[in-house]
Amino acid sequence: MTKVSEGVYFIQGQDEFLPDSHVYVIGEPESNDLSMVDVGLTGKGGYKIQAIRKMGIELDSIKRIIMTHTHLDHIGCLSEVKKEIPGAELWVHTLEADPLEAGDDRGVYGMNEFKGMCQMQYSLKADAFKFRVDRKLEGGESLDIGNMTWEVIFIPGHSMGGIALYNRPGKILIPGDVIYADYAIGRFDLHGADAGQLRKSLMDLTELDVDILLPGHNNIIKGLPSGYIGKVVKMWEPYLA
Ligand SMILES: [Zn+2]
Ligand SMILES: [Zn+2]
Repeated sequence: MTKVSEGVYFIQGQDEFLPDSHVYVIGEPESNDLSMVDVGLTGKGGYKIQAIRKMGIELDSIKRIIMTHTHLDHIGCLSEVKKEIPGAELWVHTLEADPLEAGDDRGVYGMNEFKGMCQMQYSLKADAFKFRVDRKLEGGESLDIGNMTWEVIFIPGHSMGGIALYNRPGKILIPGDVIYADYAIGRFDLHGADAGQLRKSLMDLTELDVDILLPGHNNIIKGLPSGYIGKVVKMWEPYLA
C-alpha cells in the first residue's frame, strides 16, 4: 500500500488470469473513520488486509466499504474482507444495491458464461453475492468522512449503478472503471451497461477539475494533463452512439 496524497492510500490490484481491481483507502488515519473503496476479485482479500495492516492502520478504524460498482473484480472478495472487518458498513448505489440485496447477481458476473466459469473456478455458492447494504447512494451526496469531503457522482454506463468519488479540494477522482489513466474507458457490453449513458457520464466528468486520477485498474496518475478527460471522450465518442 502506498500513500497517494494526504488521506488517500493505494493498494494495487493483483491481476492473474482475471483482473483484480485496485483498492483505495481514504480518510485521514487520525480520524479513525476510514473507508475502503472497492475490495477486489474473489481470493484477493487477504493481501489487501495485509497491506492495510502493514501501513499501521487498525482494521477497526475502517468504518465502511464504498463500492464504485459491483462487478466481480471489485466485489469478489467482499466476504473475505468482511470477515476481517465485521463492523464495516457496505455503501453501494441504489441501482446495484437492490439487486445485491435480492441476490440477483447478473450485474456482478456481467454475463452468464462468465458466471458458470467463476462459480467453478472459485467454488462459489449460488447465493455468494447476496449482501445487505447499509447505505444506498443516489449520487449528489457530499460525504463528510475521515475528515475529508467526497462527492458522490452517479456515472452509469459501464454498469447500472456506477459511482465516482470526487474530492474537490485535492482534485482527486476515483471513477471505478468508467475512465482509465491510459486513454481507455470501461467496457459497455456487460449486463446493465449502456453506451449512451456511458457517454453522458464521461461528459459529466469533463466538468471536474482533476489532478489525481485513481481508476479501478492499470496506471494511476498524479498531475493529470488538463483536458485529459475531454480528450478521451472525443476519442471514444464514435463508439458511444
Ligand atoms: Zn467494472
Ligand atoms: Zn474492474
